[in-house]
Amino acid sequence: MRQSLVIGNWKMNGTRASVELLAQGIMAGLGDNTAGIAVCAPYVYLPSIGEIINGSRLALGAQNVADKASGAYTGEVSAAMLAEFGCQYALVGHSERRSYYGDTDASVAARFCQAQSQNIIPVLCIGETLEQREQEQTFAVVDGQLDAVIELAGIAAFNNAVIAYEPVWAIGTGKTASDEQAQEVHQHIRQYIAAKDQTIAEKIQILYGGSAKPDNAKGLFAMPDIDGGLIGGASLDAESFLKIYHSV
Ligand code: 13P
Repeated sequence: MRQSLVIGNWKMNGTRASVELLAQGIMAGLGDNTAGIAVCAPYVYLPSIGEIINGSRLALGAQNVADKASGAYTGEVSAAMLAEFGCQYALVGHSERRSYYGDTDASVAARFCQAQSQNIIPVLCIGETLEQREQEQTFAVVDGQLDAVIELAGIAAFNNAVIAYEPVWAIGTGKTASDEQAQEVHQHIRQYIAAKDQTIAEKIQILYGGSAKPDNAKGLFAMPDIDGGLIGGASLDAESFLKIYHSV
């Protein structure tokens, strides 16, 4: 049985004071839920959020990680630096990174490997645009995004990774994929991995992301291949995020 996992992606939101309060609010409502939970804070807030959640079950994540280990890469933050501040997860290949900042399949694969080199679990974000879905390319797109990482890291690397299926058309739009639409792609992803390694496919957590909210989380999380969520907007409010967490 796979452990469920809910990750909040705060994106570029909040102030130091507001995210500290948010972290405290989330910690206060964890209850006895044994599912995994993490928040991906903006880089500059990682030290203070890390201190606040230290010792609790709430884990720390980053929203990206450099594709190189160290050196003259102005503005980048390495996996070793993230590890120093207690990051257990790092998102790689978020669609906003791919579309606004030019993160390519190749750089996403390199970021994935950099994270793992420091024992940080990469959360590989994949998903199709609306146009690609309408042209029935959804499976081909996610397969290609997976292949880029498998080619560089090898399938065994997915022993220590999380996949997040985030259809681009559902991110921040209020248009959630239906439970069945999401399940169809999650099942496909798991089968695609199973064709390469059955054990890893059964074990890997595949999260859904894209306008997940307290009122639709339960239905999504009930689907057999959806192991939790990667939550954007609704993770900025402790009560909403906790409702989603307790739906898992
Ligand atoms: P929303 O939940 O705001 O649609 O964002 C999803 C997302 O991009 C999480 O990484």
